[in-house]
Amino acid sequence: MKIILMGPPGSGKGTQASHIAGIVGVDSVSSGDLFRDNLSKNTELGLLAKSFMEKGEYVPDDVTIDMVMNWIEEPKHSAGFVIDGFPRTLKQAKALDEKLLESGGVDRVVFFDVPEEDLVRRLSGRLICSSCQTPFHKMFSPPKEENCCDNCGDVLYQREDDRPDVVRNRLHVYTRETEPVVDYFEKVGNLRRIDASLAINKVRESLEEVVR
Ligand code: AMP
Repeated sequence: MKIILMGPPGSGKGTQASHIAGIVGVDSVSSGDLFRDNLSKNTELGLLAKSFMEKGEYVPDDVTIDMVMNWIEEPKHSAGFVIDGFPRTLKQAKALDEKLLESGGVDRVVFFDVPEEDLVRRLSGRLICSSCQTPFHKMFSPPKEENCCDNCGDVLYQREDDRPDVVRNRLHVYTRETEPVVDYFEKVGNLRRIDASLAINKVRESLEEVVR
């Protein structure tokens, strides 16, 4: 089962990715997490991605495609996966289709639908675990202990690119670059939309339903 989670920044894809992957019995990956991991390790890729991420711009297609394809090519991912945050451009979508041509292509693309005003509110209150990347929200899903991850106990932080000026640019880039990808998958016929403005457990139920 190969599943792609799509949606604007702040639509909650990351919150649901590992849950649905657990149900299906596959691994999940977030392209943003792969970049942040490289950034924290100061790799060449991390340094290259940094300047784009700080401004809320997309990292160039060739490096992004290479990075995600390397992950997909790992033998343990041959049976399936959940990807959050990729593809975000038409070039990335076509590269993915080409890669999966022989193994039957993407099974399900799920689009997380959330009104723009909710996105800004969600992103500005978001907190992320510095170890396991579990997302929380200051108001909507606060951690049990302040600034402390419920999952692993490590400290939470606010992403640099969740600052209001960068958020605005991320939404702008999303509309310009990624909305055409949503249309692309809609035409292919394997895209399902879910109302991701609802509470986390409701979104989880809708997601399980469309994946089933
Ligand atoms: P995210 O955690 O998904 O919001 O991604 C954080 C940042 O990583 C984005 O704002 C981009 O700079 C970069 N990024 C993540 N995924 C992609 C992608 N598929 N294509 C280009 N840039 C990406």
